[in-house]
Amino acid sequence: MKKISSIKTRITIWYTTLMFILVVVILLMVGFLSYQLSIDNIGNNLRAQVLQVSEKIKTRRSDEIFYAIESNEEFKNVSIYRNNGEYVVGKYVYDISNIPFVDGQFRRETVDGKEYIVYDVFKWFGQKEHGFWIRGAEYIQSTMILGRYAFIIVVIAIPIVLLFAAFGGYYITKKAFLPINKIIMTANDIYLENDIQKRIPINPKAQNDELKSLSLALNKMLDKIENLIMQEKQFTSDASHELRTPISVILAQGEYLLDITENDKERELAENIVSKAKQISTLIARLLLLARIDSNRQKINKEKIDVGVIIDVAVEQTRALANEKDITISVNVDDDTYIYADEALILSAITNLISNAIKYGRQSGYVHIEASHEADKIKITVKDNGVGLSAEHIDKIWVRFYKVDDVRNDEFGSCGLGLSMVKSIVELHGGKIYVKSELDKGSEFVMLLKN
Ligand code: ADP
Repeated sequence: MKKISSIKTRITIWYTTLMFILVVVILLMVGFLSYQLSIDNIGNNLRAQVLQVSEKIKTRRSDEIFYAIESNEEFKNVSIYRNNGEYVVGKYVYDISNIPFVDGQFRRETVDGKEYIVYDVFKWFGQKEHGFWIRGAEYIQSTMILGRYAFIIVVIAIPIVLLFAAFGGYYITKKAFLPINKIIMTANDIYLENDIQKRIPINPKAQNDELKSLSLALNKMLDKIENLIMQEKQFTSDASHELRTPISVILAQGEYLLDITENDKERELAENIVSKAKQISTLIARLLLLARIDSNRQKINKEKIDVGVIIDVAVEQTRALANEKDITISVNVDDDTYIYADEALILSAITNLISNAIKYGRQSGYVHIEASHEADKIKITVKDNGVGLSAEHIDKIWVRFYKVDDVRNDEFGSCGLGLSMVKSIVELHGGKIYVKSELDKGSEFVMLLKN
């Protein structure tokens, strides 16, 4: 059986059950008390009737009182028997004449499955055989005990009240939990849409209860986090800007040094300077691009792009790198694979994926690039048979500055920003990117872009 997980349902079930038990207990108590009271009442009434009749019987032939018993409602529970048990006058003659007579005692007797309260008194006239048994008896009805109204309450009113209690309680708890639902929805939105600007909607007219305070506190916390993130982004953006000019100077002067120097040692040093300066320059360019995309400042010039042409350009840009590792690059592009996108950004994304496929590819391996139609999208795939990725790294490679293997990546001058940049570019175009990879077998990066 499925476990009940909603707090609303659990609370509703809990107090409806509790209420049901309470109502049943109260009814049983009321029933028991009214039963006792009824029995006492009936007993007193019977005794009064019996004693009255006993008073009025004066002779062995008291016709007057016999007539009164027969005709008068006042004595409806009384019957008279001779000493030998022979019936003389009154009610219940067929039902209860077999019950033995006991003088002056209340009893409860059952005849043919029916219960009676019985009270007998013997009226003497001189000798014992000259007397009468005066019997008062009343049939105890169960509905009489509980009362007709109590019965209606049990059968009709209680289910209705419980139904109201259950629905009312569920509605009230549902309303009370509404702010929690809003908190959950906002948290999910922030997580799924990566939008730290979302806030928990708060009804200003809502009561100032704990949940409103919680929502206000969470919103304040989100303000603070957003502020910190903005400051950090601003810092990255400012720092990258500041670094751009000096690094261009270092690069230019390093290249000049490389040109003019004849000395081997100096050449080696100058080559090192140029290579590191190029790395820093790429890093700064990526940081700046990411900062611009993050703060929605990146302009995109969308135009109709022939994906095949872009792939060819990207392949040409990475050809030298592939040749160093003797990697074969093959390309397969469907007809009419056009997208509306920013050419420079998409080119840099595809180039990045291809150069990764080469960097992490096998010596003399292959890189295969494909572009095809998939529903209303264009699917661009970059596949290699290189080192691949283990499951633990697959989700993390999109995180900024994440590198699977620091030592190995250093050889390539990696900085761990390539894939996060590619992802940001693809998402900026409303597309999707994912990877399928197996350790030591290779990886396949797939971009889906609107055509
Ligand atoms: P880097 O500048 O280090 O290459 P990326 O963001 O491009 O940074 O890649 C992040 C990590 O993902 C890399 O450190 C690398 O280990 C892994 N990676 C990227 N592309 C591939 C690939 N084609 N095959 C195997 N691993 C890859």
